[in-house]
Amino acid sequence: MEKKSYPRLLCDLGLLRQNVTQVTRRCHDSGIKVAGVVKGINAREPMVEQFAKGGCDQLASSRLSQLETFASLGLPTMLIRVPMLSEVEELVRLADYSLQSDLAVLDAIEEACNHQGKIHKVVLMADLGDLREGWWDKEELLQAALHVERELPHVVLAGIGTNLGCYGAIKPTVEKMEELSALAERVEKTIGRELEIVSGGATTSFLLVHQHKMPKKINHLRIGEGVLLCYDFKHEWGVTDIEYLSSHVFTLQAEVVECRAKPSYPVGEIFVDAFGNRPTYEDRGVRCRALVGVGKLDMGSSARLIAREKGITHLGGASDLTILDVEDCPREVKVGDILEFDISYSEVVFLTSAADVTVEYL
Ligand SMILES: *Cc1c(COP(=O)(O)O)cnc(C)c1O
Repeated sequence: MEKKSYPRLLCDLGLLRQNVTQVTRRCHDSGIKVAGVVKGINAREPMVEQFAKGGCDQLASSRLSQLETFASLGLPTMLIRVPMLSEVEELVRLADYSLQSDLAVLDAIEEACNHQGKIHKVVLMADLGDLREGWWDKEELLQAALHVERELPHVVLAGIGTNLGCYGAIKPTVEKMEELSALAERVEKTIGRELEIVSGGATTSFLLVHQHKMPKKINHLRIGEGVLLCYDFKHEWGVTDIEYLSSHVFTLQAEVVECRAKPSYPVGEIFVDAFGNRPTYEDRGVRCRALVGVGKLDMGSSARLIAREKGITHLGGASDLTILDVEDCPREVKVGDILEFDISYSEVVFLTSAADVTVEYL
């Protein structure tokens, strides 16, 4: 038998496909196309395939290098990080669509398309308050739209879009979506035709589809986290009726390397930890704690891990270790045991790129 090595990230491809199908079906029923966003899983091909098989209309990533890996799946590709001026030639070569927020870049795209004898479709981004990418002045956005439409023959104005719930943590509400819809109508009036795409955001905007509240004009979403993890809705948003999305696509398995009773409050003068933070600790007396062999090098932070077994909670972590309280676990935890965890987006981003993590598909 093959010797197993840990840490191990298991991905249930069937469950992933099911999640994608559930989301695309609901979106399609509301007249919304779905770009499956695969940057969070390092565009690992067996997983990306499930986005295609589950009914996504496009495949999207923030990295051009990732677009290249799934060009062969046959779906239109979309770059969702506004591109660097220096990567415009590659953008035109690798992507069918891209999100845009700068006139100089749009002009450079026209030039690159001209060289390569290609057409490229763009979605102009409007900043509706999240303060990430996009035009803030909406008159300027209208001017940019008109510029693309009239002056750039190889650049097709596919539509407009917005991003919310990121830097500014702004909630995608019906009002925000109506603001985007109204802007789309103004663009359409200015250019005298309908837009193909009005892109209302990411996973967090899907909640309005789930609640049948999405304004009709929104016809496109870019979705990653919701189908991969569905962690945020369940653990941050308190959404309880979204049972059709599984949060068990991924399982992190890690091996116990030490387990013993220790004080819960550090002994000595408390200063800064290994990462420059000044943490606080609660004195809960002597408790049984376990260390597992996976850490910040593998997953950035371990704070959002949720142990599958009852009575196991997260205490902290180091580069290569995660510290757990196992005092309330009904069974005895021993060195060599394999513990299983649900993870969130921030962990899966790292785990799918980490050198020492085995990824296995079910
Ligand atoms: C990452 C990203 C998405 C997808 O976000 P999820 O929360 O994973 O659905 C959508 N749009 C843009 C611009 C992104 O950068």
